[in-house]
Amino acid sequence: MYIRVHPRDNVAIIVHPDGAAPGAQSPNGIVAIERIPQSHKIALRNFAPHDPILRYGQVIGHANRAIPAGSWIREDLIDMPAAPPLDQLELSTSVPEPLPPLTGHTFEGYRNLDGSVGTRNILGLATTVQCVAPTVEYAARRIKAELLPRFPNVDDVVAVTHSYGCGVAINAPGAAIPIATLRHISLHANMAGQPLVVSLGCEKMQPAVLFSNDFPVLETSNVIRFQDQRGFSEIVAAIMEAAEKRLAILDGRRRQTCPASDLIVGLQCGGSDAFSGVTCNPAVGAAADLLVRAGATVMFSEVTEVRDAIHLLTPRAETPDVARALIREMQWYDDYLAGGRADRSANTTPGNKRGGLANIVEKALGSVAKAGNTAIRAVASHGEKVTAKGLVFAATPASDFICGTQQLASMNIHVFTTGEGTPYGLSLVPVIKVSSRTALAEKWHDLIDLDAGRIATGHATVEEVGMDLFRMMLDVASGRKKTWAEHWGLANALAPFNPGPVT
Ligand code: CA
Repeated sequence: MYIRVHPRDNVAIIVHPDGAAPGAQSPNGIVAIERIPQSHKIALRNFAPHDPILRYGQVIGHANRAIPAGSWIREDLIDMPAAPPLDQLELSTSVPEPLPPLTGHTFEGYRNLDGSVGTRNILGLATTVQCVAPTVEYAARRIKAELLPRFPNVDDVVAVTHSYGCGVAINAPGAAIPIATLRHISLHANMAGQPLVVSLGCEKMQPAVLFSNDFPVLETSNVIRFQDQRGFSEIVAAIMEAAEKRLAILDGRRRQTCPASDLIVGLQCGGSDAFSGVTCNPAVGAAADLLVRAGATVMFSEVTEVRDAIHLLTPRAETPDVARALIREMQWYDDYLAGGRADRSANTTPGNKRGGLANIVEKALGSVAKAGNTAIRAVASHGEKVTAKGLVFAATPASDFICGTQQLASMNIHVFTTGEGTPYGLSLVPVIKVSSRTALAEKWHDLIDLDAGRIATGHATVEEVGMDLFRMMLDVASGRKKTWAEHWGLANALAPFNPGPVT
């Protein structure tokens, strides 16, 4: 009838798709005294006003009135606690012991000159500014239709377009974040680290600004500057001519066997529900532990979904310096939200609440389950490329398309968990979508790649789904399997995080 996550919990989640009817009795004698929808919380005992409400063994809020056992614990019955103070956290006090190495797992990838490994072989058309986006997308459509069929080893042609590049305070401190993000994406392993570069001419983010210290890129890549060309047809012809030469090089590449340690996996959730924290997110956590054991990089992100669980994470930091870096990123985001006169409670959506998540505390406690159980090895700031192996916290907003864009700067495969459902995808890396409930996996049979709802119904364990996901990642990375988002060509627009001023 229900799932209780932790022995201390005094609430539990209703499992049955039809919810619990009034009078329904659980094996241990708790009787529902009203109708409670699926994935919402039932009171396992009587609560007096101000009593703590515990889920995941943690306080997710306090009762703001008397609540009898068997009640539906709705969002409006719970007062949200304050966020954990950042100056009282334990630093590296309970660092998990390393798990035994996992050897022998490989995938077939494209090894690049810089040592990075691609999971796809894509011709990328990097852009410096939004002004050129429609023209570059026009050229990309023509390249796909007229040139790509002659180069069967190339997977796709992608116009790397975005909303940044001009009309911004390009030297303001906040501008460094979108510029760095777009630099790393432009040099992505899945584009062999060598894009064509398309520029307008008069924009603030000139090619030399976009690539900063990486000027060799501009020497080896073909930079096409629109304002040097005679007209639209000549611009498109210049892009297509450069693309044809580049396609010939990319077509000569072959996949080769790479150790699983070459995977760089970005983890994210979107449209979460109360099941996310007991099914898909722990299963992703189990897969994360396997990846770490195999020597790979696993990124978890989404500051506002980590903030309320930070007291569980700083003790797991490998060193006090790593713990302090986690706190630094939390403080940066607290200040950022305060500057916009918002706080962490702005995170939860109507869908989260419909799915049974009362507040950001409950959402965060479920969200961090994606990070598994290993030591946190390193922390990357917004826009910084992740280079460490092991479990890494990469600071990003929680917004799906912004987090995905930020993680794209580093990752070569993406895992996305969802409860309410979203058809999310990216053009440059495969996105594996994992559902929290079987009902969603059945309803969206041609969008969800893996069903973790089997855990709630007792048909699979967290470890089994984690292993299924690990194997699926190796198959998808190798190109042996395509994700549903790839199958349908679903790619959300890039949305770099820009905390800097627009002019
Ligand atoms: Ca998200």
